[in-house]
Amino acid sequence: MRRIVFGKLLIAFLAVGATGFAVQAALHSFWVTIAASLAISIVLAFMGASSVGVRLDDIIQFADRIAQGDLSARINHANKDELDRVAVSLNHTAERLREEFAIVERGRRELETLLNSMQDAVIAISQHGRVQWVNQRMNRILNQHPRIGGGVAETIRDPDFLAAVREAAETCTVQVVRSTTIVPGRFHQVTAAPLPGGGVMAVLRDLTKTERTEKMRRDFIANVSHELRTPLTSIQGYTETLLDSLPEADGSREFLEIIRKNASRMSRLTEDLLTLARVESGEHHFDREAVSPAELLADAMQSFEPMARATGIALEVKNEVERPVKADPEAIHQIFANLIDNAMKYGATGGKVVVGARPVGDFAEFYVQDFGGGIGFEHLPRLFERFYRVDKARSRESGGTGLGLAIAKHIVLAHRGTIRAESELNHGSSFIFTLPYAEGENAR
Ligand code: ADP
Repeated sequence: MRRIVFGKLLIAFLAVGATGFAVQAALHSFWVTIAASLAISIVLAFMGASSVGVRLDDIIQFADRIAQGDLSARINHANKDELDRVAVSLNHTAERLREEFAIVERGRRELETLLNSMQDAVIAISQHGRVQWVNQRMNRILNQHPRIGGGVAETIRDPDFLAAVREAAETCTVQVVRSTTIVPGRFHQVTAAPLPGGGVMAVLRDLTKTERTEKMRRDFIANVSHELRTPLTSIQGYTETLLDSLPEADGSREFLEIIRKNASRMSRLTEDLLTLARVESGEHHFDREAVSPAELLADAMQSFEPMARATGIALEVKNEVERPVKADPEAIHQIFANLIDNAMKYGATGGKVVVGARPVGDFAEFYVQDFGGGIGFEHLPRLFERFYRVDKARSRESGGTGLGLAIAKHIVLAHRGTIRAESELNHGSSFIFTLPYAEGENAR
């Protein structure tokens, strides 16, 4: 009898253990431990017990049902003996398992609802490159229900998407790429993020409408600027002619000077708008070549030395980079022109402007530093936005268009570099941009 009891209890113990494994995906192993401990205590407590076959059968049936995922199973108990205490404990364990499982299940359903209500398409990919889950938006954009467990490359063939997923998995970093072939005629931004424990979650955002609107905005600005060029040239021309023909003492000269000044400001603005529209749209072609930083710096200095002399500002150059960079010299000249012009306009009180280059990691870092009034910390993140000015009146008065830094930013980005500003009030500002090296060549 003892052997039978022992055998049945052992089965119960194994069943409870198996139950623990069945729910282990959702629950802590703590509960499995509790279940196992209880089973062992049954074995020890009832080694010497007499016939308890029926009640033990109850326990075994209970364990079977739990193992099959029926967490509502319970053991009847009416006596107040040791076997009942075991039954109460097992019932309690089962109840806790049910509660915990319900919490996990509710969380899963909430997450699924959230992902299904998203405007972005989401796909979860296992570490072996298999589709694990997709949201409804993904089903819609693919026009099919991808096969769960099928290879991701069978579902989405876009090479940029697949490369981003691979890269995210291999490097455990978030990858952001632009894809044009997931759905023909539409642009998607793909963000592939590594999942804890392996695999990748990719989110696809449809940017078609945004890009179209952005293109319309750029085209409109470019067209308006272009159309304004001719009448402005004409206004400037006739004003000059009138000014040339009027005697110095003529009272209307003052008004003509105002017209000339404003026409030339509008002309600068239209030119800057056109430049920005071209650079932003990627339509502007940059002739990138291997060029030595010394050459780029010398070129910038040469243009500004006369202005520095005239305004009494010391213009210094510091070059610490020998390796050539890959850049379009004319475009870099425009960046330097905007930055040095600003340094001389807004940082003149410092009396000195330093233009230099230094090696930083895989890039050459160029900078224009002034020692003037500086810029408040709160303005730094917005400085490179078009038309953002710290002091509007001062910018206008000095003939600024509010576009110089935005143009500089887009030229740098087109060169695969970065640009930033560092500043301290009353101590001056530094505008710093990076350019990649031209591989395998040395400046001689
Ligand atoms: P702007 O034509 O007005 O100079 P920018 O885009 O070149 O336009 O510069 C944006 C604003 O950033 C300027 O209006 C000015 O307020 C601020 N700024 C730029 N460079 C400096 C500097 N070196 N020192 C202080 N403020 C600066």
